[in-house]
Amino acid sequence: MTLSSNDVPSAFSDLRMLIDGRWTAGSGMAGEPVFNPATEGALGRLPHAGPDDLERAVAAAARSFDAWAATPACERRQVLLQAARLLASRIDAIARILTLEQGKPLAEARAELAAAIEVFEWYAEETRRLYGRVIPARSRAVAQVVQHEPVGPVAAFTPWNFPALTPARKIAGALAAGCTVVLKPSEETPATALELARACVDAGLPAGVLNVVFGVPAQVSEYLVRHAAIRKITFTGSIPVGKHLAQLAAAHGLKRCTLELGGHAPVLVFDDAQIEQAARVCAAGRFRNAGQVCVAPSRFYVQRGVAERFTAELAAAARLLVPGDGLDPAATMGPLANPRRLAAMQRYVEDALAAGGRVETGGRRLDRPGHFFEPTVLGGMPDRAAAMCEETFGPIAPVTVFDTPDEALARANALPYGLAAYAFTESPRTAAAVARGLSAGMVGINHLAVSLAEAPFGGVRESGYGSEGGTEGLDAYLSPKFVTHLSA
Ligand code: NAD
Repeated sequence: MTLSSNDVPSAFSDLRMLIDGRWTAGSGMAGEPVFNPATEGALGRLPHAGPDDLERAVAAAARSFDAWAATPACERRQVLLQAARLLASRIDAIARILTLEQGKPLAEARAELAAAIEVFEWYAEETRRLYGRVIPARSRAVAQVVQHEPVGPVAAFTPWNFPALTPARKIAGALAAGCTVVLKPSEETPATALELARACVDAGLPAGVLNVVFGVPAQVSEYLVRHAAIRKITFTGSIPVGKHLAQLAAAHGLKRCTLELGGHAPVLVFDDAQIEQAARVCAAGRFRNAGQVCVAPSRFYVQRGVAERFTAELAAAARLLVPGDGLDPAATMGPLANPRRLAAMQRYVEDALAAGGRVETGGRRLDRPGHFFEPTVLGGMPDRAAAMCEETFGPIAPVTVFDTPDEALARANALPYGLAAYAFTESPRTAAAVARGLSAGMVGINHLAVSLAEAPFGGVRESGYGSEGGTEGLDAYLSPKFVTHLSA
């Protein structure tokens, strides 16, 4: 059966928040509509939390913290595993919800949900390894141990580009460590996060351990981050907002932060690379989720001898994409998630032309309802063009030329971002040099698979600090406590 955007699932007709184990519309704040970016039609109406609702959510997270932290890790594991099983059994329905509110093709929505489920499973297993350690003492009368304790109630903020995977990383990491959570997902993609919460509730998570609220982002974060009961902030989103939250967190209790603030991943393509394959891989990575991916390869530095060939292949791969409603099986690229991104793409192309770049393919908004922008490749780009220096967060691939590896590294590292970086080369020596030299939290060589449940995901410099995923992801929610015991 072909699904249509007109059949809106009931999840959207009854959007609620989750506060202290209850699904609630809150205390009557105005709320806002949720739109389908492929049609611009309204899907439903989202309630907002007022100060009373936020207070109840924090109070619930604070009240339930001691019991959840003291719940044996093997029991927390069971809840997370059961949530993963429930999500897997509901994957078709949730994928459709995700596509409707965010826009990505159904196959991408399913892949994102599969990754989110894997995150739940991985953190569930990692609860078995919440070890402490014994430190040999300086005296026989002393016993010394380090134990890891959950930091406390967490305020988590997630964006609209990965409405399942980003909340999953924060929810599963925090719950595995023994923390409780107040999550504020993006108001633009609320229903997917609510389905994750529903799976946790149905899996037996005690009331109050996970709360989900919506509202005006700046007001909600101001309230939660300042609150004395909140002990940890985790945020994925833009650099200015991340800096603002870090300042608030410092001013109000010096709370720990994990900040994943996006990037502008450079790709160095050397003349010994397998050019056709590199271009295909880069096109798939650049245009996935219509380019709204913080680790997407997004500015291309290509060695002079292969630049023309690489650019032509990249443009050819871009032309093969079929933009369309994510529910249409023929569509291979969805719309941009909101009108802000569409306006930004138009600005980036105009700026590129003014700076001396040229459009190799694409460059325009599609003449149809929805926030559709053509997959775009820009050639001959000067480093000063906005698309080369700013995170474009859309389906634009700017290409420039370099001569020497040192020059490529210097230009790649010249921006304040440091999330992901990539290189394509057949030379082990070049690969080692760029792995060492690229200023980034994640480096992919000859492929782009840097986002894995079992590996640390996070940036350096203005891309933020702290990791999600890997054993480092659990550390984010734990504090070491050193206990030294003199017993003579
Ligand atoms: P934005 O900065 O307004 O919002 C980014 C996210 O932060 C949204 O989810 C929003 O709800 C939330 N937010 C905004 N202000 C907040 C506040 N004061 N407190 C708490 N949360 C707040 O930008 P946008 O227009 O949604 O996206 C623009 C840029 O954000 C993109 O170009 C990209 O650079 C960045 N972004 C990064 C990621 C990522 O995965 N790192 C995801 C989404 C957006």
